[in-house]
Amino acid sequence: MREGETDMTGNLVQPRTEREVHGTGARSAGGVAAAAGEAVSQRSFRAVSGPAASGPGPGPGPGHGHGPKHRGRGEDGADVVLPAAREAVADTPIARAAEAALVARAAGPVWPRPQACRIITIANQKGGVGKTTTAVNLAASLAQHGNRVLVVDLDPQGNASTALDVDHHTGIPSVYNVLVDDQPLAAVIHPVGAVPLLSCAPATIDLAGAEIELVPLVARESRLSRALGRYDVSGLDYIFIDCPPSLGLLTVNALVAAPEVLIPIQCEYYALEGLEQLLRTVNLVKSHLNPALAVSTILLTMYDGRTRLATQVADEVRKHFGGTVLRSVIPRSVRVSEAPSYGQSVMTYDPGSSGAVAYLEAAKEMAYRGHRPGGDSA
Ligand code: ATP
Ligand code: MG
Repeated sequence: MREGETDMTGNLVQPRTEREVHGTGARSAGGVAAAAGEAVSQRSFRAVSGPAASGPGPGPGPGHGHGPKHRGRGEDGADVVLPAAREAVADTPIARAAEAALVARAAGPVWPRPQACRIITIANQKGGVGKTTTAVNLAASLAQHGNRVLVVDLDPQGNASTALDVDHHTGIPSVYNVLVDDQPLAAVIHPVGAVPLLSCAPATIDLAGAEIELVPLVARESRLSRALGRYDVSGLDYIFIDCPPSLGLLTVNALVAAPEVLIPIQCEYYALEGLEQLLRTVNLVKSHLNPALAVSTILLTMYDGRTRLATQVADEVRKHFGGTVLRSVIPRSVRVSEAPSYGQSVMTYDPGSSGAVAYLEAAKEMAYRGHRPGGDSA
């Protein structure tokens, strides 16, 4: 069975295009600002979650895969977009490659471009929640639809550079040189071969030392912001900054450099742990260093509809953060996890897979709703 045809949307999938998604949470009136003020209720989350329970659910059955996505409605009345597999028409390697090539050449319709470049920091100090995957795939999706996009890899692991197939071995001019040696950002940016309109400023392992090397430097928290200020961003529509899994100086630099924060939240038991600390850091940076800063977007990642737990986490997050949470939900997808090992985003590796379709929907949502701090609620 192909990955896109798995029962990853499990107990939520009905054998029809429209289906109801029943959540347990009621929509919160407040957006992120309110949620940041009140403590994120780990206790209530745990009470709701309990031990991981697998819903027996009907499963997709043979009728699964009627279109690119399913729309449902949560109990809170909000539309929820869950991707489904594509139809089996292009299910041969050659057809898939042709499809990928078409999309990668920006053959898709052009989405609205922002009036000014949107700089979006993707942060969550929790590791492995999908920060890099989100940065790479949102960036690729937007670039495939007529937007000029730069990914700034601010993680010494260099995962975003790997996924975009941009060389990042030691010695390559990288974001490290921009932060520590005051090199111009333009000097380290490389085009991404597979996706026109997409470029990447790579991270090398040297960046691991930057956390220490930045300490004695002047304006150590604002080095990236200063570099972006000297760079002509008018030639770009989006800049995504991929953060490491910490709240150290690198992440603080990213928060100072951008007006928008996107937080990926994994639909797992510990998802909300640490979120309160992240929001506190965002508020600290906002009050001392970057008054324009706001959490504009929350994206639910690695959603596994076979577990009731995933639905409960999603409901809890929507309850706290309201319209800030994108309606599109990223499912667990083998294709998404395979793509980086081919130096590709899933948008070019397997554009018809459920993960690619979900990231496409999420990117489209971001493009069409623009920058509204606090999401729909703003
Ligand atoms: P880190 O904190 O280490 O930087 P991260 O938050 O950037 O991690 P990713 O590297 O994007 O997280 O993802 C962690 C792992 O999970 C990777 O192996 C990635 O391929 C995989 N992964 C991410 N999203 C999905 C998904 N939707 N389905 C399946 N695997 C996924
Ligand atoms: Mg990462």
